[in-house]
Amino acid sequence: MDEAELRARVRKLLAEAHPERTDSITFRRKQFEHGLALVHFPEGHGGLGISPKQQLTVLDEIQKHSKVVHHDPPAGTIGIGMGMPTVLTYGSEKQKKYHLPRIFSGEDIWCQMFSEPSAGSDVAGLASRAVSDGDHWVVNGQKVWTSVAHLSSWGMLVVRTNPDVPKHDGLSYFILDMKTPGVTVRPLYQITAEAEFNEVFFDNVRIPHENMLGKEGQGWRVAITTLMNERVAIGGGGAKRKGAGSAQLVKLWKDRKAGALSPAQEAMLRDRVTRSYMDNELLRITSQRARAAQKQGNPGPEGSVMKLAQADINKHMWELAMDVLGQDALAFEAGYQLRQSGFESRSLESAAKYMFLRSRANSIEGGTSEIMKNILGERVLGLPGDPRVDKDVPWKDIPRS
Ligand SMILES: Cc1cc2nc3c(=O)[nH]c(=O)nc-3n(C[C@H](O)[C@H](O)[C@H](O)COP(=O)(O)OP(=O)(O)OC[C@H]3O[C@@H](n4cnc5c(N)ncnc54)[C@H](O)[C@@H]3O)c2cc1C
Repeated sequence: MDEAELRARVRKLLAEAHPERTDSITFRRKQFEHGLALVHFPEGHGGLGISPKQQLTVLDEIQKHSKVVHHDPPAGTIGIGMGMPTVLTYGSEKQKKYHLPRIFSGEDIWCQMFSEPSAGSDVAGLASRAVSDGDHWVVNGQKVWTSVAHLSSWGMLVVRTNPDVPKHDGLSYFILDMKTPGVTVRPLYQITAEAEFNEVFFDNVRIPHENMLGKEGQGWRVAITTLMNERVAIGGGGAKRKGAGSAQLVKLWKDRKAGALSPAQEAMLRDRVTRSYMDNELLRITSQRARAAQKQGNPGPEGSVMKLAQADINKHMWELAMDVLGQDALAFEAGYQLRQSGFESRSLESAAKYMFLRSRANSIEGGTSEIMKNILGERVLGLPGDPRVDKDVPWKDIPRS
């Protein structure tokens, strides 16, 4: 499809529902119906079957005609970036029709329940169990670090259905209605003083068999689809908003208090701000290039490059923001209390302090930077793998604490 035709389609959408006069959910539902939600998705499922890079044209045309843009809802990243491609790849036609528009519109928030207290990097070693009971599976166990579980209506869940085979072969993947009896969500408080993530407990939770994605024992394969998309969703985030973080850093630098820094500090910090801006631009452009190269379908292990780079660049950028704020960086606003993240807007200075603390998680969430290096070394560069002594042993025979 050429650019003019795509732009005409966007104008047709805007004629039916204009963001300035339509709430986010209604507008995004319409955007989905017009195939302009994720353009690389197939027709009838929110896309047009064209290159993902053409999504930027959609955004550009909307911005040309509207001061209001209904971006992805902040709590919707997991559902849109990871849930939608997983449902598209492994869901039944009925599941696709029901879930894809609801996730994209923000009607349903989704969470990802993979990590457990003793299975994070080694998620294939997880211990939560599902046992078959007629046309249902009964789940018992615990997940941890489950972002936005407290806001979610649905979750992606990986559990062990067969402990007698090696760990990767005994997993199955479900989508779980979070209102099912026996699901308990408890907040975990972070360094930011928010509770963005949670512990989730399963006590005899019954899941209908039809909510299994893929076949029994194929859970690892399905999980890889989610994880590959996660790395791209996290690593490519800056590309969507034209380096929003570095624009904030530059603004903080321009707004710095006169006389607060010595001439030597001024010179050093100017140098670092420039460097950081360049790093962010390189990340944005590389991410766009990767997007242009990507056709349709799910991303491969190369996505780990962006995730690894994003973690480092982001952490350095917000550390630098604290240096620019100087002594003001030490004070958090009064009344700051433990709370469940509401994704509320903040002042620039407050946002920078928050992001300095939040960015510490960037090298852990979605797989640690060490694991990204392992993936790149082994699966992209073809270097010898990590020793894996438990790979071929039945899961039940692997010693665990
Ligand atoms: C903000 C945030 C949000 C998250 N949200 C979710 C979520 O929504 N859903 C979910 O399922 N999980 C989520 N997680 C969990 C996240 O995926 C795990 O924390 C991560 O995979 C690491 O696992 P772990 O914490 O168990 O650390 P461990 O796996 O115990 O790792 C500890 C340390 O050992 C290193 N290490 C481990 N294995 C190796 C190896 N083979 N080679 C080299 N180094 C190694 C790690 O890099 C790390 O430094 C979230 C985490 C954070 C911080």
